[in-house]
Amino acid sequence: MEKDKLGKLIEENAKTYENLSDAVWESPELCYRETTAAELHAETLKGAGFSVTYPAYGINTAYLAEFGQGCPVIALLSEYDALDGMSQEADANVRTPIIPGGPGHGCGHQLLGTAVVEAAAAVKTVMEKEGIKGTLRVIGCPAEEGGGGKVFLIRAGAFKDVDIALSWHPNDEHGAQDTALAVVIAFFSFTGKAAHAAAAPEKGRSALDAAELMNVGTQFLREHVSDDVRIHYAFHDVGGLAANVVQANAKLQYVIRAKKNATVLDVYARICDIAKGAALMAGVEAAEPVIVGAYADFIPNSTLGSLVNKYQNAFLPIDYTEEELAYAKRFQKDGKAAEPICTKPPKKSEGPGGSTDLADVSWVVPTGAFYSACSALGTVPHSWELVAQGKSSIAHKGMHHAAKVMAASALDLYADPALVKAAKADFAKATEGESYNSLLPEDAKPW
Ligand SMILES: [Zn+2]
Repeated sequence: MEKDKLGKLIEENAKTYENLSDAVWESPELCYRETTAAELHAETLKGAGFSVTYPAYGINTAYLAEFGQGCPVIALLSEYDALDGMSQEADANVRTPIIPGGPGHGCGHQLLGTAVVEAAAAVKTVMEKEGIKGTLRVIGCPAEEGGGGKVFLIRAGAFKDVDIALSWHPNDEHGAQDTALAVVIAFFSFTGKAAHAAAAPEKGRSALDAAELMNVGTQFLREHVSDDVRIHYAFHDVGGLAANVVQANAKLQYVIRAKKNATVLDVYARICDIAKGAALMAGVEAAEPVIVGAYADFIPNSTLGSLVNKYQNAFLPIDYTEEELAYAKRFQKDGKAAEPICTKPPKKSEGPGGSTDLADVSWVVPTGAFYSACSALGTVPHSWELVAQGKSSIAHKGMHHAAKVMAASALDLYADPALVKAAKADFAKATEGESYNSLLPEDAKPW
């Protein structure tokens, strides 16, 4: 089907998917508790004639929707989880939580998941109309925000017969999504001995001292790691709030990132040694560190990257009204943005800024992904400003753009077996001599 007809087909049904996205925005749910979003997706896909399994893969908020049969098997990957503490009134450009401390869609996953459902429905319509052979799947992937949903889906076999995976992510610009930092998220706990801090300090052993010494040791480590390494930490337990008690418990969360999986594992091992040293210095016990989350680095695929880039350009520019431009400007308080909304062509791949479990999928199946502009230029992810713009027509337009790009790319892959072959050859070359081992422990479970 030619691009203009496909674009028209998606535009004709735009309202249905704007309503779906808005409904998911209105029920922000955290990792592995995204029941409303998953149900809304499953119902919509059922209504569009897909055969739907929900829950799927042994995970309460995962789903599988399928249509067609035979090869190739193309999977579109949706996400729909929200972020804690991001609650914010729609369209408000000052901080106005709907529920103080409540969750909100600070990463735009209401758009991400909906565009995938929207694209799948359009592809199915075209496949039926034109008698296209092949299998189309939508895999509902929960818990991207730190829960590693896709790692568990991989372990459950969700990708074992998939030829190609496609996805996207909302952003403030259009661009390639083919890099991500590998990450390990781990907890370090110390146990000491409580005592009166003035009357019997010699009897106490401070777990809080060990936690502080661990952080000091890590600050020195920062000088002896490669430039791409990022180490963040947070105190999860400081023992208590009384300064006149020697604190018997302390717990730290560490997030360690780097460009390559091997670097993350090396730095993690060194931080484990620092924790042991800190415990020794403070005379307390260090528990075995517990890894609660881990994502791989991203394996880019040049064939799929070129394919999605072709359609990103083909479906641009997005037309914005004067009202939309004025709306976007309200969210650009520093006045530094070059324009209210990005109108530039897709950016080439840049250095990875964050981490995603889509990167794990890129290790087991050729994966193509991209960014579409869905907010005022300069809006950062994981911010209340992004939540506020999540139901705007700018967000909806970016979502429809992404749906068109994914649908057109999938249809090209069904039409041209050589493209699938080329994507597989890229994948084989990029992973040659390497094997995928999730950094997440074998016995880890969805929360
Ligand atoms: Zn995200």
